[in-house]
Amino acid sequence: MSDEMELLLNAGEIAKKVKSEVMRLIKPGASLYEIAEFVENRIIELGGKPAFPCNLSINEVAAHYTPYRGDSSVLNEGDYLKIDLGVHVDGYIADTALTVRVGMEEDDLMEASKEALENAIATIRAGVQIREISRAIEETIRGKGFNPIVNLSGHKIERYKLHAGISIPNVYRAADTYTLKEGDVIAIEPFATTGAGQVIEVPPALIYMFVKNKPVRMPQARKLLNHIKAHYSTLPFAYRWLQKLMPDAQLKLALVQLDRAGAIYSYNILREIRGGLVTQFEHTVVVEKEGAIITT
Ligand code: MN
Ligand code: MN
Repeated sequence: MSDEMELLLNAGEIAKKVKSEVMRLIKPGASLYEIAEFVENRIIELGGKPAFPCNLSINEVAAHYTPYRGDSSVLNEGDYLKIDLGVHVDGYIADTALTVRVGMEEDDLMEASKEALENAIATIRAGVQIREISRAIEETIRGKGFNPIVNLSGHKIERYKLHAGISIPNVYRAADTYTLKEGDVIAIEPFATTGAGQVIEVPPALIYMFVKNKPVRMPQARKLLNHIKAHYSTLPFAYRWLQKLMPDAQLKLALVQLDRAGAIYSYNILREIRGGLVTQFEHTVVVEKEGAIITT
C-alpha cells in the first residue's frame, strides 16, 4: 500500500471512530458547543487534526453552522442534525457527514440522502464520468419524493486541499464529463430536502478560509492575519478557534476588515431557500480500477 493511501485510511479510521463516539452525546438538550468541541478534541486525541470546523447544522440549515463560545444552541427532540466532520493526517483528508434525528428513528428523508450516497458510490470506478454519479444521486432522492439540493456538491480532494477544483453535483448535468481516474480522492455528499432544493447564504459567518496575504492597517486585524497564516493557511477555520485571541467585539471587527481586504473568505450559513428540512450523508472514497474504497 502506498504511504498516501495509508494516511488517507488512517484519517478515515479516526473519522469513523469519532462519528460512532459522538452518538452518545446526541439527545434533547445537548449543547452544540459541547458536541463540536468533543468532535474536534477527539480527532486530535486520536492523532489527527480537524480538516475543517465541525459543522452542526439543524433542520433547514444545510451546512456551515459551527457553534461559537457562548453559543446557547441546544438540540430539540425531532431536530434533523447534520454532523459534518473532517480529519486530516499530514494533509490527507477524510470528509464525512451523517444526519441523525434527535430522539427519533431514521425516516424517509434521511433514507433518501443515505441511499443516494450508497447508489452514488456503487457507480464509482475509474473511467466513470462525474455526471453518472450525479444521476444516481438525483434519481434516488427524487424517487423517494424529495428534492436534491442543486447548489451543493461533492468535490475532489487533494493533499491539504478540501475542494480541489472538480465538483460532483447532486443533480445530473450533461456538461459534467470529468472522468474519474484511479487514485482520485472524492467526497460524495447528497443533500435531500422537503423544500425547493436550493440553499441561500444567510449571516452570520462562523467559518472562514485564508485567501492571500494583504496589507491591513488595524493592529488587531494584522495580529489576527498573522495567526491565521501561521495556523490555517490551507484549510478552513472556525470563529470559535479564534475567540481566545481577543475579545469578541475586536475579533468581529478584525474579521470584517480581513474579509473586505480580500485576505480571508467568509462562509455564511447555508439555509434551504423555502425553509425545507434537509438531510445529508457523506463519505470520502478513493477511486479504484474496478470500484471505490470508502475511507470513512
Ligand atoms: Mn463534509
Ligand atoms: Mn465535503
